[in-house]
Amino acid sequence: TPGLYIVATPIGNLGDITLRAVDVLRRCDGVACEDTRVTGKLLKHLGISKPMWRYDDHSEHRDRTRLVESMRDRAVALVSDAGTPMVSDPGYRLVNDCRAEGIPVTALPGACAAVTALALSGLPNDRFLFAGFLPNKDKARRETLEELADVDTTLVFYETAPRLTKSLAAIAEALPNRNVAVARELTKLHEELRPGLPHGLIAYYEAHPPKGEIVLLVGPPPERVASPEYAEQLLADALRTLKPSQAAGQ
Ligand code: SAM
Repeated sequence: TPGLYIVATPIGNLGDITLRAVDVLRRCDGVACEDTRVTGKLLKHLGISKPMWRYDDHSEHRDRTRLVESMRDRAVALVSDAGTPMVSDPGYRLVNDCRAEGIPVTALPGACAAVTALALSGLPNDRFLFAGFLPNKDKARRETLEELADVDTTLVFYETAPRLTKSLAAIAEALPNRNVAVARELTKLHEELRPGLPHGLIAYYEAHPPKGEIVLLVGPPPERVASPEYAEQLLADALRTLKPSQAAGQ
């Protein structure tokens, strides 16, 4: 049936594609993708040959409109280079335009580096905040981390190998005393999960410069010593045990 099919693809291990994703890629009329070379390789591996169109959210409005119009009588799959489209990847403008034009949209779940890293990390995961990539510039990075300092959940960042130790140093400063985990090359031959404190991890990765793809996770803030209510209770108890002269500050 015509419409937009959002299709998750593997994040490294080509086995991580669902039966439904293969079926949709096989039946669709064409594939909108970030990079036709990357998607071409995946399709070739699956023995599928389809027209491909390059798409990103910065593509000319005209091109997007044409793509949306084509979906009135064609089934188009949207994929990104790896993982789930829209998770730090293009597509949301296309989804919005399709919806505005009454084009059916559906999404096929599959691999996602953030969720895979969270599962592997051993950090608390009843709630988590996916924070995408940290900004490149020092000041913006620091401000972002300061904003996140009070968030009481595990934080998940996408990271690049050359920036890893810089980000760890910024985390050590803005979010002290946090458990951290580095998830590298997930689902691939050299998959690694390295937990630790930021300074220990900095020392390790300075001695062993990281390669490949990385998700950086930061555990929630340590338990507060006392909630405001508990602190008030402690203060009240302390005052009660003081002699009246002491309490009056004499
Ligand atoms: N849409 C993708 C997803 O669902 O995971 C993420 C796309 S984002 C542009 C690329 C980033 O995802 C990389 O810089 C890295 O942080 C992370 N990533 C992707 N594949 C990974 C892997 N196999 N191992 C670790 N991190 C990965």
